[in-house]
Amino acid sequence: MAQLFVSDLHLEDSRPDITRAFFHLLDSLSGRFSELYLLGDIFEVWLGDDTPAACAAALADKLAGLSQSGIDVFLMHGNRDFLLGEDFTQRCGAKLIHEPFCLSVAGKKTVLLHGDVLCTRDTDYLAFRQMVRNPVWQHAVLAKPLDERIAIGRELRDKSQQSGQQKAEYIMDVTEDAVTAMMEAYSAELMIHGHTHRPATHKVVLPKANANATRMVLGDWYAQGWYILADEDNVTLNAFPFPITD
Ligand code: MN
Repeated sequence: MAQLFVSDLHLEDSRPDITRAFFHLLDSLSGRFSELYLLGDIFEVWLGDDTPAACAAALADKLAGLSQSGIDVFLMHGNRDFLLGEDFTQRCGAKLIHEPFCLSVAGKKTVLLHGDVLCTRDTDYLAFRQMVRNPVWQHAVLAKPLDERIAIGRELRDKSQQSGQQKAEYIMDVTEDAVTAMMEAYSAELMIHGHTHRPATHKVVLPKANANATRMVLGDWYAQGWYILADEDNVTLNAFPFPITD
């Protein structure tokens, strides 16, 4: 029962090459995985399930096809697509999962998350996250007409870009404390997340458990494709270049 993990596709209609590359990956690994996990920031921006985006329609069709062929598809929110709801999830034949999500990967107790909650030095962002993840705020925003939501989305994105430019690099990475605390809380031997756009495999020392663990970070799809493939024995982080030429 192999598992495929991807995050930070940041799909948008102005980048059809990313959608194409992702579908190419799914086709090239066809038959080699039975579970697909998309760990947030699937879309560059998501303003509600009525967002008219060609990439969203194409993704829904693609994932629904996988689902019909017997593959379990799981979607998780990121910091850009936290408004993704049950309507879209159902169109994908998928299941919406919430972080931290625990499962077994290659026989290891594993915790999945998008990764933004681990960036605990970024207190401004965490305050913002608390606001936008509040169901009352979400309900109020989703009740607004689409053009107003588009304006709100643009405003939030501009603000986040401006503040991001002023922040030191280390502020936008995970903290060791947040990683060890979460892994110990869930007795995890493996953690898989995205968000930081710093793809790597890290050794983690868990002091309380007096054990070594592993943290694998998926990369973003702005310039190349990244995925983690796990079978019963091995978990590998892989990259491939754009554009797909075949
Ligand atoms: Mn993110």
